[in-house]
Amino acid sequence: MSESPITASVDFDRDGLQHGFLKLPHSHDGSAWGHVMTPITVVRNGEGPTVLLTGGNHGDEYEGITALLKLANRLQPEQITGRVIIVPMLNHPAVLNGSRTSPLDGGNLNRCFPGNPAGTLTEKLADYLTRYLVSISDVVLDIHSGGKTLDLLPFAATHRMDDKDFEARCLAGAAAFGAPYTLFMAELEGDVLFDSAVEGQGKVFISTELRGGGTTTPETVAIAERGIDNVLRHAGVLAGEVETLPSRALEIPDGDAYRVSEHAGILEFTVALGDWVKEGEVIARIYDLHRTGEPPKEYRAPYDALLIGRRHPALVNVGDTFAVLAVPR
Ligand SMILES: [Zn+2]
Repeated sequence: MSESPITASVDFDRDGLQHGFLKLPHSHDGSAWGHVMTPITVVRNGEGPTVLLTGGNHGDEYEGITALLKLANRLQPEQITGRVIIVPMLNHPAVLNGSRTSPLDGGNLNRCFPGNPAGTLTEKLADYLTRYLVSISDVVLDIHSGGKTLDLLPFAATHRMDDKDFEARCLAGAAAFGAPYTLFMAELEGDVLFDSAVEGQGKVFISTELRGGGTTTPETVAIAERGIDNVLRHAGVLAGEVETLPSRALEIPDGDAYRVSEHAGILEFTVALGDWVKEGEVIARIYDLHRTGEPPKEYRAPYDALLIGRRHPALVNVGDTFAVLAVPR
């Protein structure tokens, strides 16, 4: 495979604190020899583990962006052993645009892995992450939230894997994050996620969802900041004990847990985020906006579960995931 067109203005092998950029050539009408400039911070202090911390994989998910910008301002080399690589705004054009995907090429970064050095801008970035940053890391924490269209209970997550030792190491990382919920997730499109690119290299991967709706709260940013420090401690990069807090063990068991709308209209939830629902219980109704006198379409829970995610906007279309369910494990 050819070399990446991306170059880093930081030296990953140098001790100390460096703020710089990943530079991706992007020739366009406004700048013939322009670049996409992705901000990056590297903090290194001698030999030790490497932790890669990423936010803004989707541009409208703000807990990771906020907490990692704060970390880049506060973390000093003398506080750590090893190396911390911080990329708070992975899909930088999307972050600047306040959107999930890149306005430059429509790229959804977390559907572009393992990437392609000769592909679109977003595919080139995915390839650089896969082959250049993940390869030098031991642990990767990718901080997501629900974005503008989803609201999700705050959780850290990993996946069921064939290699049970590896699964246990990834689960230990997710548990160390210390979110109020810790999940095994069945994914809708596993092969093209950052998750798979990291796990495929045998590196511990931890992801999160920390509410959403296109904003943050003091509580969700605090969960992100505490989780980051906990993961750094768990990896042995930061001194001190992991700050353990009660966390509920859950599992998204299968694709059925993602409830997809077959109707368009106004969404009325009959249960709240964090409520337990019973099999057959109505969880939401959708009202047709084109006429009066029409009974709403009712959506019921397929099994006993906790409502861990819901669509944030009230307007809903055919094909939207409007509810996400999880069960105890
Ligand atoms: Zn996301």
